Amino acid sequence: MRKFLVCPVCFSKNVELDAGGVSGKFCCKDCGYVGSFILEMSEGEYAEALKAKEMKYEEEKS
Ligand SMILES: [Zn+2]
Repeated sequence: MRKFLVCPVCFSKNVELDAGGVSGKFCCKDCGYVGSFILEMSEGEYAEALKAKEMKYEEEKS
């Protein structure tokens, strides 16, 4: 199954290789995260991660 890169900070899929891949790091176009740690998920895993993130957000709110 095809996997895509996901930002570990904001869970955006808008992630690209930093400096064209020369640095071996990734950068998130949404929150500005730059680092070598990145999440790699399939469509199903991404849906689960988003759900978990929302639940966490609900907990923090109440
Ligand atoms: Zn991000």
